[in-house]
This record gives sequence, structure tokens and C-alpha cells, in this order.
Amino acid sequence: MSVVTRFAPSPTGFLHIGGARTALFNYLFARHHGGSYKLRIEDTDRKRSTPEAIDAIFEGLSWVGLEGDGDPIYQFARASRHAEVAQDLIARGMAYHCYASPEELDIMRAEAKSEGRRRLYNDLWRDRAPSDAPAGIDPVVRLKMPRDGGSTTLTDLVQGDVTVDHEQMDDMILLRADGTPTYMLSVVVDDHDMGVTHVIRGDDHLTNAFRQYHLYRAAGWDAPDFAHIPLIHGPDGAKLSKRHGALGVEAYRDMGYLPEALKNYLLRLGWGHGDTEIVSEEEAISLFELKDVGKAPSRFDFQKLENLNGHYLREADGDRLMTLLAPSLDLTADDPAFSRIRLGLAGLSKRATMLPQLAEAARIYIDRPSFPLTEPKAAKSITPEGVAHARAAGERIAALGDWTEEAIHAALAETVEAAGVGFGKVAQPLRAVLTGTMASPDLSNVIFCLGAEEVAARLAAAPNS
Ligand code: GLU
Repeated sequence: MSVVTRFAPSPTGFLHIGGARTALFNYLFARHHGGSYKLRIEDTDRKRSTPEAIDAIFEGLSWVGLEGDGDPIYQFARASRHAEVAQDLIARGMAYHCYASPEELDIMRAEAKSEGRRRLYNDLWRDRAPSDAPAGIDPVVRLKMPRDGGSTTLTDLVQGDVTVDHEQMDDMILLRADGTPTYMLSVVVDDHDMGVTHVIRGDDHLTNAFRQYHLYRAAGWDAPDFAHIPLIHGPDGAKLSKRHGALGVEAYRDMGYLPEALKNYLLRLGWGHGDTEIVSEEEAISLFELKDVGKAPSRFDFQKLENLNGHYLREADGDRLMTLLAPSLDLTADDPAFSRIRLGLAGLSKRATMLPQLAEAARIYIDRPSFPLTEPKAAKSITPEGVAHARAAGERIAALGDWTEEAIHAALAETVEAAGVGFGKVAQPLRAVLTGTMASPDLSNVIFCLGAEEVAARLAAAPNS
């Protein structure tokens, strides 16, 4: 049997990071087993399911690289198939028309409440003859749940054995009075028709699984395996919400996170393989097992995410980073600063954990410092003596035949030696003159990336007194 998983978001206007994690687990599980991972858009809420809201899901999934295999399935378009299954269940005596009026349902609800019963519907129409049907009322269709006094145990692949008494289960509605299918019916029919073998989703759907399971049984279909993963909580332990920070993946993209960092983070949030924090996608595919998904909700840790981002920023391909940085720096590839930054990326990314930070640091290769400098420490090093040391270094650097970081470093060392001062007395003013700041990468590296011409031009612009 080949594994088929699915991610089934309801469009809400963005791809929730919890949804992205669900998608990721479905994707990894499918790939781990050489199976397929499908996407189903649950667009039956017509008000919410606008083209924009659906596009936002696709955009989020495409950014994290979790688009489904093949074309997505749209649930709303399958409504007639869902209704057909309900009709077939009626024909086979597994489901029935219920004509209970709103008043009758109110009474049942009040009774259930006073008796402390979970089940609300009292099976009023379950065994009545169709000839009892009142005229002029459109019935709903309900599924017959087992009334045998027993219980159902599902072995959830994350939660373990979970049992619910049949006595607690309502004869759930499959078709509304207007003939439209309920969510419960649509999900089961779609999962069956899509050949889904494993339903991996948030544990807020755990109680639904029992109702869905009996619908599979009634239809004569094999139920899939279920794996209900705990929801993500905020750092304070409460269910993740807006007040904890951004919820949509696109907000993480806009803040300057790399998708692979977010994915690695989401993977580790709820799944673990020993203490390993950094897990490549390839490793994740080979290691991913549902038994390693924790049962307890995990807390979102923004610092951890940022640290991972720093790691992936340092690992990232330079040309790709340039593509990500260029728009915010307003640079095109033929700009000389573009090549300087490209050259200096490794040095710059040592200190950055986020893209905007990297972009900010890269400005030293774009903007010539303007004097007087605004950064106090850098400004302090701009003394006549300091500038003279910087220029002396500049002369040795200008005379270099060999433009390498080693040669530049040696020229700096010689300047220091000749002046008989400490390294900082030369390096600090030189750094300040060249970059306007004290927080730049290694000085030889900066000089190397600026290039001889730009170094000379910046030194020439330094104040003489
Ligand atoms: N559309 C549901 C949701 O967004 C998911 C249903 C399911 O996975 O079965 O919560």
C-alpha cells in the first residue's frame, strides 16, 4: 500500500504557521515512505474562500516549498459527490432523514444539559417510518451511530489509544436541510476518494476522528490511520495567537526569515531526533517518524528560530542571498556595490541572524561615510594622528601587487610596526574612515571587498584635521 497524505487548509487569508507545520509533517511522512502528499483546499465556507484567501495559501506553501503533488483538490466543487454518498447511505439504511424542528432540538439540548449528557440529539427520527414525515419540511440527513452501549478505540499514531463511548456520539448531520454536505461528510468522502492513507492534522480535530471513523464504516470504506499533532503554543504556554506575534508564514518571510530556517524550526517544534537542532530537509525525510512527534504542545521560541535563521543565512548560496537582498538595498547586479557585497557576504553574514540585519550591515559597501561620523566610537578615532595612520596604511595597501586578504593583512601589520603603535591605533581610524562604523567585519576582508580604488577614494575623503 502506498502512503498518501494530505494537507487540507480552510482559507483564512494566510497560511498559519501551525498549518505550515501540519503541511510539513504530511510532506515528510509521505516522502519518508515514498508516497504522495496532496493538497485539498477546504473552500466550503464561501464567504471566507475568496480567490485572495486561496492565493495566500498557495503563496505561503510555495514559499516554504510545500505545494502538494499534482493539482489541488477543491472541496466545494465536489459537493454533489458528497451528497451522492449520503443518499447511498440512506438507501442502505445507514443514514436517515430527520425532521426535528428547531423547537424540538432546543428541548433536546435542554434535556441533555440537565441530565449532563454529551449527546444532544435523542434519535427522534432514527427509527421512524418515512410515512411519518411531515409535509413541507426539508429534512436533514443524519448518520446512524452505533447504539450498542459499546465504545470505539482509535489508535492514534501520535496520541496512542483514545476511546469514546458510543453513548456520547450524536447521530451527526451529513446533509443540511438545503441539501449541502456538512464538513464532516465532505472530509471523509474527499479523503476516501483521494486515497488518503494517513490523516495527519492538529489535535483540535481528534474528536472529529471518531465521528469520521463511523462514517467510513457505514460507507463500507477502510478508515485511514490518524495522527493528531499537538497545537503550537506561545512562549507563555497559551495557544498561539496574534498577541504572541506573527501567525502567517508570509509575515516571517517579510521579517527576513529564510524558508529553510522556518521549516527546520517547525520540524523541531514537535518532532525530535535526539538533540539535533539542525536538520536538513534530506535528513528530515530519512528520519521522520510519527512516533517521534511529542504529545505535549510545544512552545514557540522566537530566539531559537532566529538562531536557526543565522545558521541558514551563513549556509545560504551567495547568489540567492544577493537576490533576496538586492531589492531592499535598491541595487542592480551591474552596480559596483553589488559585487563588493557579493564578495563580502561571508564576512557580513557571520554577525547577522536576519536578512534585514544583513542588508543593514551590507550598507558599508554602498555608502561612503560622511564626515563628521555619527557613530560616537568611530567619530572619536578620527583624529589628525588617526587619519595619518590610516593614510599610511592606505599607501602600503595601494602599493600591493597581490590583492589578497593575507597581503592586505601583512600591509596593515607593517604599518603598525613602522609606526611603533598598537594595532588598534591604525586599525580603528582606518575602519572608521572606510566604513563609518566600528561594527564591520574583519578589516582585511572589508578592504579586500572594497577594492583598491574605492579604498583610495574613501581615504581621500577623510578630513585632514
Ligand atoms: N480544514 C481543516 C482545518 O483547516 C482541516 C481538516 C482536516 O485536516 O481534516 O482545520
